[in-house]
Amino acid sequence: MAKMTIRDVELKGKKVLIRVDFNVPLKDGEISDENRIVQALPTIEYVLEKGGRAILFSHLGRIKEEKDLAKNSLDIVAKRLGEHLNKDVKFIPVTRGKVLEDAVDELKDGEILMFENTRFEDLDGKKESKNNPELGKYWASLGDIFVNDAFGTAHREHASNVGIANNIKQTVAGFLLEKEINFIGGALENPERPFVAILGGAKVSDKIEVIKNLLKVADKVLIGGGMAYTFFKAMGYEIGQSLLETDKVDLAKELLELSQGKILLGDDVITAKEFNAESEKNVRTINQIPADEMGMDIGPRTIQKFESIIKDAKTVVWNGPLGVFEFPRFAEGTRSIAQALTEIKDQATTIIGGGDSAAAVIQFGLDEGFTHISTGGGASLEYLEGKLLPGIECVDNK
Ligand code: ADP
Ligand code: MG
Repeated sequence: MAKMTIRDVELKGKKVLIRVDFNVPLKDGEISDENRIVQALPTIEYVLEKGGRAILFSHLGRIKEEKDLAKNSLDIVAKRLGEHLNKDVKFIPVTRGKVLEDAVDELKDGEILMFENTRFEDLDGKKESKNNPELGKYWASLGDIFVNDAFGTAHREHASNVGIANNIKQTVAGFLLEKEINFIGGALENPERPFVAILGGAKVSDKIEVIKNLLKVADKVLIGGGMAYTFFKAMGYEIGQSLLETDKVDLAKELLELSQGKILLGDDVITAKEFNAESEKNVRTINQIPADEMGMDIGPRTIQKFESIIKDAKTVVWNGPLGVFEFPRFAEGTRSIAQALTEIKDQATTIIGGGDSAAAVIQFGLDEGFTHISTGGGASLEYLEGKLLPGIECVDNK
């Protein structure tokens, strides 16, 4: 279902509530990665250019006790945002009350304020995270229109997304949320074919629902990474010391049968005797993994096999590294596949969902070569599982 976006509404003179994802990583009280701020700029700039009065808010970290408050204040984020916008971002150090309400009333067209971390409301009964109805209603009362642009929390039903949407006339998607819907949602609902899914990562158990859902829509599902070994075991191979989830072997068998040849595993692997960066590497065909070795990466023949399928793809969704990419010696499989995907960028839509997979291609310096790298870890996983995300569902349909 097509969703309304900020392009579809009149913003001039409106009090525009904008839920962004400013849950930035902090190190010693400093912002260590400002990507989330940068990603939110197009929506904020658009609202300001159109003469909207921007009221920004986000969660940051987790608030369990008093002492979590000071270290999770959004004040430094407001400052950094102001530098990017070249504009004064007025920071209101509360989440409700007269100071906030007066500041909203004083806001002029094209001006912006940001109020304090929405999770400060969790201190007293988890009002934000449990979507306390009174809180969503209160925040909604501060604005005329609600723009949800926080994909990272779209899999959660919180007061600052669903709660507001339930109590305001109009809810639309910002550009970032729109992008996630168009690319991930688009790939799942109406992919250009062939549609190839690439799945890796550590555990089968983390990705069962993703595998099942992608088996429904993809033409091929390539499996590498740690999860491949439970499948190899299910196929009857000896996997030595490789990662194995014994209780998932039967499930792997079932999935292999269910897939009717859609699932493709490798023919060879890179093994090591120990799980560390310096461990010597060996190439082993899949029926020759010694008992004292473990699979750390996909092998050269597997890379070729996967590449030959990727080269004709029109849609690719990738979740999960294909080897232990954190150790350079075992990053070759993940890097080669990332490289192969950058080479089809002109003919295909290539999408990465998953925190570590995104980190891997950024580490390789290949991130520019993808159509879309999802900004949400947990949210993109649930989206790929085929779940309806409350933060998307609450946006008005066109
Ligand atoms: P994502 O965050 O992209 O969803 P996951 O969290 O599922 O990915 O998996 C990432 C982890 O999987 C990485 O830390 C990587 O080292 C690990 N991994 C990949 N291949 C293997 C393997 N063969 N053995 C053990 N761990 C692996
Ligand atoms: Mg991960």
